[in-house]
Amino acid sequence: MDYGPAPESQKEAQAWLDGHQRKFGLFIDNAWSEPAELFASTNPADGTQLAELTQASDADVERAVAAARRALPVWQGMGGHGRAKVMYALARLLQKHSRLFAVLETLDNGKTIRETRDIDLPLAARHFYHHAGWAQLQSEEFADYRAVGVVGQIVPWNFPLLMLSWKIAPALAAGNTVVFKPAEFTSLTAMLFAELCLQAGVPAGVVNIVTGDGTVGAAIVNHPGVDKIAFTGSTEVGRAIRIATAGSGKKLSLELGGKSPFIVFEDADLDGAVEGLVDSIWFNQGQVCCAGSRLLVQESIQERFLNKVRARMQNLRLGSPLDKSMDVGALVDPVQRQRIAALVDSARAEGCDVWQPACELPLDGSWFPPTLITGASTSAAVAQAEIFGPVLVAMSFRTPPEAVQLANNTVYGLAASVWTESISLALDIAPAIKAGVVWINSANQFDAACGFGGYRESGFGREGGREGMLEYMTALAEDARPALPVVEAKAKGNVKAAAADPFAIDRTAKMYIGGKQARPDSAYSAPVFGVNGALLAEVGLGSRKDIRNAVEAAHKASGWTSATAHNRAQVLYYIAENLAARADEFAARIAAMTGSKNPEKEVQASIERLFYYAAWADKYDGLAHQPPTKGITVALNEAVGVIGIVCPNEAPLLGFISLVAPAIALGNRVVVVPSEAHPLSALDLYQVFDTSDLPGGVVNIISGNADELARTLATHADIDAVWRHDGSLDGCAEVERLSAATLKRTWVGGAKGRDWYSAAQSGGRAVLAHASQVKNVWIPYGV
Ligand code: NDP
Repeated sequence: MDYGPAPESQKEAQAWLDGHQRKFGLFIDNAWSEPAELFASTNPADGTQLAELTQASDADVERAVAAARRALPVWQGMGGHGRAKVMYALARLLQKHSRLFAVLETLDNGKTIRETRDIDLPLAARHFYHHAGWAQLQSEEFADYRAVGVVGQIVPWNFPLLMLSWKIAPALAAGNTVVFKPAEFTSLTAMLFAELCLQAGVPAGVVNIVTGDGTVGAAIVNHPGVDKIAFTGSTEVGRAIRIATAGSGKKLSLELGGKSPFIVFEDADLDGAVEGLVDSIWFNQGQVCCAGSRLLVQESIQERFLNKVRARMQNLRLGSPLDKSMDVGALVDPVQRQRIAALVDSARAEGCDVWQPACELPLDGSWFPPTLITGASTSAAVAQAEIFGPVLVAMSFRTPPEAVQLANNTVYGLAASVWTESISLALDIAPAIKAGVVWINSANQFDAACGFGGYRESGFGREGGREGMLEYMTALAEDARPALPVVEAKAKGNVKAAAADPFAIDRTAKMYIGGKQARPDSAYSAPVFGVNGALLAEVGLGSRKDIRNAVEAAHKASGWTSATAHNRAQVLYYIAENLAARADEFAARIAAMTGSKNPEKEVQASIERLFYYAAWADKYDGLAHQPPTKGITVALNEAVGVIGIVCPNEAPLLGFISLVAPAIALGNRVVVVPSEAHPLSALDLYQVFDTSDLPGGVVNIISGNADELARTLATHADIDAVWRHDGSLDGCAEVERLSAATLKRTWVGGAKGRDWYSAAQSGGRAVLAHASQVKNVWIPYGV
C-alpha cells in the first residue's frame, strides 16, 4: 500500500499575500511603513518568490525603540487584567487563524504542514494563553518585581512564529514593550501576527516588528534605549551579542545551539525509541536547536537498534511540505543545504560510514536526505559541530557512566533524551547530564509552563515557566541599590617602621586552596596596612597558576554538589557557630583594617547571613509542572558548578559571606578573590572552615589584584560563572566581555553599589537564582 497525495490548499495564504501586493513595510507604533529597500522571501520547497520585505534602517530601529518607550506607561497602566485580556484575544485569534498561519509558515520555511499545523500553531497559542494567565497573576505572584522596560528580541528561522510567541508573550505579560526582529528568511508569519495585534487591541507601540538582516539585529542590540535583549540563534551570534552588551547594564538571555545526546539503554522499548528518534532528529529536517543529533546506544543492542533505525529511515517520506503525508520537508535555504553537505562530506573524508535511504529529492528547492553517520570519532567535526540538518551521528557506550561522559563531551548543554524502562536508571542519569532539559522516554516536548534553555555554550536564561517570566522582570530591590561606593584606597603605612616588630614580618596570610593553606605561586606578597598605618600582615599575590590550582581543587570537590542539602545546611550552620565563637577576634580585625566603629555589627550580620543561607539550602525546592501531555515535568534547581567570585571592599567580611554562602548552600564550589583593600578577615576564615567540616576545595580563596584575578576567572574554561561586586564598573564590563569566550553566566554589580546589610538587596530568591540553574526533566507516564 502506498500513500496518495494529500495536498493542503495554499489558496488562502496566497490570497493573503496578494492582498498585500506581496510587499510589506515595517510595523511600528501600530502603523505600517511604506515598503522600501526590499529583499525577497522565497519558498524553500520550490525556490519561488513569495513576497518582498523591508530592510529596516537604523532610523527605523530608532523609531521602533522610541514607540516602545512611549507605550510603556500605557501598557503598564492597563494593569494585569487589562493585559491579560489583550493576550487572551491574541491567543484566540491565533487559534482562529491557525490554518492560515500554518500554511504560510510552511510556504515560507519549508517545514511540513503536519508540523506547523499540529505543533507550531497549537504551541504558539498555548504560549499566549499561559502568559495571559501570568499577566493576570503578576501583581500577586511577582509582587516584588517590575517589568524590565523596552525589550529587543531577535529570533532565527527554524520556528518563526513559535519563537515569536516564546519571546513576545512573556515580555508583554510582565508589562514590557518590544522591538522584535524575525529572521530574514522567514518573516511572513510575523507580518500576519502584526495584523492580529491590531485586531486584539494591543496599544500602539507595545509590539513593533522590524524586518531585515543581521545589521537590524545589531542595531537593536546596540541601541541605548533597549533595556533587555532576548536572542535565539547561533552560538556565534550569541557570543557577539554578549560582547556588544558587556557593561551596558542590559539584561540578556541567550538561547543558542546544541548537540544534544539521544541515549538508548539496552532495556529500552526499542521501537518506541526509534519513533522518538524520528521526532528528535528528523523533526523540522533537524533544524532544531535541541535536535537529538548524537545517538548514543548501548553496545549490546547497537546493531539491532541501528537496523531498526535504518528500516524506519527507509519509510520516511520526503517531499512537498504542503502534502499532509510527508515526514520530511525542505531546508530553509540553499545556504543551509551547503553547510550540511560540507559537514557530511567532512565525515566521509574522515572515513566515517555515511548511510542514506534511497530517496528521490525534488529537483527544485533545497533538500537533504535523512542521513545516518557511524564510525565517527568523538572529536570528528560531525560529532562536535551543530549540523542543524537531518543528520544523525551514532556512537556506542558500554556502561551508564560512559553514556554520561559521552553525553557531556560537548561544549553545548541544551537538551538530552534518555530511553530506558528503568525509572531509577533514568532519574539517576538525568541530573548527571549537563543540559537544561532532559526528556525521559520522549523527545522534543515543549510547553509554556516548562522552562526551556541551556547550560554552558547553549546559553543562559529560560523561556517558559516561572523562571521564563523572571527573565522579563527586575526585582524592586535592585532599584533601591545605593550609588557605587567610593573606590576604597588601600590603607598606607611604612614597612620599615613595622619591621621594628620582628614578628610582624612573619604575619603572611596564606591563600586557601583545596582545604589547605597555600603560598602564592609567584612567591610575591604585598603588605596590608591598617587605618592607622600599622602593618597588619602580608598577603600573597595570587596569579593565573594559583587560580588554576584552585579551579582544579574546586572540581575535585564535586562531592559537595551531590551531598544532601541537609548536609550542606549543617556545614553552613557550623561555620556560623565557629565564627560566632571567634566573633571578637574578627571584629578586631575588621576594625584594624577598615577603622569601622561598629565591627561587631558586621560580624553579627555575617553570622545571621550564614544562618539565612543554611535555612535556604534545603528549601530552595524545584517545581512539578503539569504540561498538557500525560506526565509531569520536574523543574530542578541545580548548582551552576564552579563559580568565581570577586568580593566587595566595603563590608569585607559580610560581603564575602553574602556571596559565598548562597553559592555553596546550593552546591556550587567557589574560587573567591577577597576584598583587595581589606583581605584579612576573609583569609582568616580558613581557620573557621577547617573546624566546620567544610570539605577541602569547596571554598578556595586567592588574594591579590582584583582586576588581574577577575580576568583569569572570566577566561578560565572550567569556570561556569563569574560574579564581580567590587565596585569596579570597568572591571564588571570586562568580566562580561571576557565571559563570552565560553558563555559563562555572570552576575556583576555594574553601575550601582549594594547594601550588604539589606536582606532584600543581598538575599532572597533573586540571589539564589544566580547560584542555580533550572533543569526541566520530562517524565511521561501511562501506557
Ligand atoms: P544566526 O544566529 O545568524 O541568526 C539568528 C538571528 O540573529 C536572525 O534573526 C539573524 O538575522 C540575527 N542576527 C544575525 N547577525 C546578528 C548580529 N550580529 N546581531 C544581532 N542579530 C543578528 O543564525 P543563522 O540564521 O545565520 O544560522 C546559522 C547557523 O546557526 C545554523 O546553521 C545553525 O547551525 C545555527 N542556528 C542555531 C539556532 C538555534 O536555535 N540554536 C537557530 C538558527 C541557527 P538574519 O536571519 O536576518 O540574518
